[in-house]
Amino acid sequence: MPLVTLKSVLADAQQGGYGVGAFNFNGIEDARGILDAATEKRSPVILMTSVSAVAYMGGPRAVVGLIRGLSDHLEIPVVLHLDHAEDPRFIAQCVDSGYTSVMIDASKLSYEENIAVTREVVSYARRLGVSVEAELGRLGGREEQVNVSAREAAMTDPADVPDFVARTGIDALAVAIGTAHGFYKEEPKLDFDRLTRIRSLTDVPLVLHGGTGVPEPDFIRSIQCGMAKINVGTELKYCCSQTVRENVAGKPTEIDIRKLVGDARTNCRDIVLHKIDLFGSGGKL
Ligand SMILES: [Zn+2]
Repeated sequence: MPLVTLKSVLADAQQGGYGVGAFNFNGIEDARGILDAATEKRSPVILMTSVSAVAYMGGPRAVVGLIRGLSDHLEIPVVLHLDHAEDPRFIAQCVDSGYTSVMIDASKLSYEENIAVTREVVSYARRLGVSVEAELGRLGGREEQVNVSAREAAMTDPADVPDFVARTGIDALAVAIGTAHGFYKEEPKLDFDRLTRIRSLTDVPLVLHGGTGVPEPDFIRSIQCGMAKINVGTELKYCCSQTVRENVAGKPTEIDIRKLVGDARTNCRDIVLHKIDLFGSGGKL
């Protein structure tokens, strides 16, 4: 089927009380592994690219062509989503090229500037029926070493959410409740009270970033507390590089590149199969 919007997939997820995985990919092997898993589980799936992954793969048109070609004969709903973009002009290029969902991350700006930039992206994307995710609060990054009070201050303030959603018209909201990107140095502590308060104040589908390393029961609890989209990036990236590392070491004379990188497809598939079971999206077509 043709690519679908984030809005439609998350509306079903919210109604059904399950989460949908959003998986970062950087090439053919991981993209195919993600689609293999979703097909096997008959699950909706969100494929997403960072801005640098789009450049790596040759630009938005190349990515759209790849994913349309891999998925248009499948019977599962597939969303192609742009992750963490800060430049509205680049987002517009992705919208024009056929992405069905984009994230504007203006969370580094002030609250009012975040609203202004997000509104601009929503008004552009909406003309082509493309969904928009925005971010409120600041997610931790692997480079950041902040103390507890700074961490709290960076979290999403529930009181801001209804105003932000109403004034921007977004389709999904990334909230900061204690997760961070990359690998964790210590186990993350998710603020479920904050998530529950946010959920009680808005109907907008919520997004959990920084999923790699979150304990499995916390994923389940996050979905029960109202998370609809769960991002998984670092775990798949590590899987791909580890696969290549092991194959290169184990097959030092191999000249067929496909025999060095190709196993990343099945290894990524296995991770995504497990995530789909955990998030509960299998069979939800
Ligand atoms: Zn993120």
